[in-house]
Amino acid sequence: MQLEYAPAPESRGVVDLKPSYGLFVDGEFVDGHGTSFKTLNPASEEVLAEVAEASDADVDAAVKAARRAHSRTWGRMPGAERAKYLFRIARIIQERSRELAVLESLDNGKPIKEARDVDVPQVAANFFYFAGWADKLEHAGHGTESIGVAGQVIPWNFPLLMLAWKVAPALACGNTVVLKPAETTPLTALLFAEICQQADLPPGVVNVVTGAGATGQAVVSHPDVDKVAFTGSTEVGKAIARAVAGTDKRLTLELGGKAANIVFEDAPIDQAVEGLVTGIFFNQGHVCCAGSRLLVQESVADEVLERLRRRMSTLRVGDPLDKNTDVGAINSAEQLARIRELSAAGEAEGAERWSPACDLPERGYWFAPTVFTGVSQAHRIAREEIFGPVLSVLTFRTPDEAVDKANNTPYGLSAGVWTEKGSRILQMAGALRAGVVWANTFNQFDPTSPFGGYKESGYGREGGRHGLAAYLKGGE
Ligand code: NAD
Repeated sequence: MQLEYAPAPESRGVVDLKPSYGLFVDGEFVDGHGTSFKTLNPASEEVLAEVAEASDADVDAAVKAARRAHSRTWGRMPGAERAKYLFRIARIIQERSRELAVLESLDNGKPIKEARDVDVPQVAANFFYFAGWADKLEHAGHGTESIGVAGQVIPWNFPLLMLAWKVAPALACGNTVVLKPAETTPLTALLFAEICQQADLPPGVVNVVTGAGATGQAVVSHPDVDKVAFTGSTEVGKAIARAVAGTDKRLTLELGGKAANIVFEDAPIDQAVEGLVTGIFFNQGHVCCAGSRLLVQESVADEVLERLRRRMSTLRVGDPLDKNTDVGAINSAEQLARIRELSAAGEAEGAERWSPACDLPERGYWFAPTVFTGVSQAHRIAREEIFGPVLSVLTFRTPDEAVDKANNTPYGLSAGVWTEKGSRILQMAGALRAGVVWANTFNQFDPTSPFGGYKESGYGREGGRHGLAAYLKGGE
């Protein structure tokens, strides 16, 4: 049942899109020495801009600039001075929040209401939070000495937020950075570079090199990079771990996930259904910690599924810039192909597929919210990260069975527990092999709270006091 509503599109006018973008090296925008690539609006396939593809020589220039800035300015500056810059950046992010949110929505395909109400406020909050640490590092328990130059490679699902998770703690601790955004979403990192100029950040403290995997590889394998921080797929994370092995580089990896959202029979069902919807349809399911497996107690499975389908039928899928939109576009043709391939595998393996009736736009990359029932633990849709709006439903009878099924995954990033009983929450939180366990909520983020995984979800923590460890010499 699609509800009637009048479209309320956000204006693109606040964004000053340039036809082409260079790299940000040593405080300036420069032409690269490599080729260039196009970045698209995934909701329309319109080319937004041509972006420079950084070559090895460009990456080298960025690392040299970061090294100079570390030894001459940033690495020597008192923490209280560094904090002033970070507070200034945080305030400019707030001032330019509408522009940042619209650009993020255009380049990524996420609904404007999420970019506006979740991503950008969280980005500012991270800079405010880590600014507060810059002159208090002696209280964090990892020493006060910075590591040096950090090479940071990030994915496309939360382009600005992943930037903030990496850049804010690195800078607060006195490191300088060379950041490589994802090839499908480079634009907000380049706008952030402009914000660094506006904040008068000393040249070389933040460098942004755009490009694809080869540019990322050049960043992480550069001999003068002291610390590598990567967020992305487990496959690329493993390749980076191999590339860094045998060097004295420090490494943190934030990788994939296949979280269980566990609903017990005593859970408040309507709230749980809201949590399931947020868990898997927020950001089109392009969320490392998405609740992509629903484990529901057998006694309430029919009721939960019935209410879930009803709720899914009210989701509005379409133009990301429409303020009514709940589910936006899939970020790229490649990601859409992967979601389709895994969903077809689910059907072929015998699971039952359901989506609400919804009119998808003709151009762009779209996938209707989907739920699979009758899923067994051996199915690919129960084991592999789909990274799209697809929920796989399994059932359980006892808490022990729920724990066994939830932990039966190579990943260990997050989990959700829905129950009235506080004692059960504590019992489950202790038994689930996941870096974050949410109780009667899901996908809650806060800069003060550490985030990270077990097993193939990676190692190291981002956020909170723990997140400082990765950027201080005494942190390991
Ligand atoms: P990806 O691994 O394909 O790409 C991530 C980044 O790595 C991109 O910038 C890419 O250009 C770069 N890259 C690719 N090959 C490289 C190489 N050989 N060396 C260095 N860099 C290379 O991942 P993606 O498809 O962009 O992102 C989706 C994945 O990210 C999902 O698996 C998701 O779970 C994960 N993710 C994890 C977290 C977390 O905090 N654990 C957060 C967000 C996303």
